[in-house]
Amino acid sequence: MPAAFDKIVDLSLELDPQNFAMRTPAGFTRDLQFAMEVLKEHDAPGGAGQIVRGVHMRLHAGSHVDAPEHNVRDGTQIHQLPLALFIGDAIVADLRDKMPGKSIAEADLERAIGSCVRPGDRILLRTDHNNSYDGGSDEWMKASPYLTVGATRWLIEKRAVIVGYDFYHGNDEPGSPRVFHNSRTLSEHGVITMPYLKNLDRITKQRVTLIALPLNIIGAEASPVRAVVLM
Ligand SMILES: [Zn+2]
Repeated sequence: MPAAFDKIVDLSLELDPQNFAMRTPAGFTRDLQFAMEVLKEHDAPGGAGQIVRGVHMRLHAGSHVDAPEHNVRDGTQIHQLPLALFIGDAIVADLRDKMPGKSIAEADLERAIGSCVRPGDRILLRTDHNNSYDGGSDEWMKASPYLTVGATRWLIEKRAVIVGYDFYHGNDEPGSPRVFHNSRTLSEHGVITMPYLKNLDRITKQRVTLIALPLNIIGAEASPVRAVVLM
């Protein structure tokens, strides 16, 4: 049977210790940057000729999904979310004119996707910023646009189920009511955030199928994903 798609676009950021690092704001007990370690070499005595590596990483390293618990105490965790959330219709909002560091207001979203958004969509916010991701420098963060309070409300009212970002998702409108107001508000409304995407410029159709399955981790607030779009 022929495949029901012509092309797979990989939206995932490379997990490469050479050029991937995570920001570590106050409150962390450990930094735990992404790192790989060989636990058994091919030629290890008694090792049966296999190599085995392990990784040190946060669940928020690279392309990942945040369950509501990330921002909401006792909120839904990854293993409690239906897998159907992570497979389905997605649309791209072209917001390249919001680089560098400008605000994304509800009128901008309306102009970009207002005519085609449907309830239950996964909305991918495109700036192409992460196509030159530099490991998460201060400059990268500052150049990232931010959603206004109204834009976040718009996404909730349109009943988006996932909001994906190809820029730093933690920037808020100046004077926002609280830190991480936008992602927190999305979490409070059950909307999944999916940061650290790239290659959104390679999506050449308006409506595509997104597949971004979390790992089957029990009791966690986030999971890495391999995010792809079928066209
Ligand atoms: Zn996260």
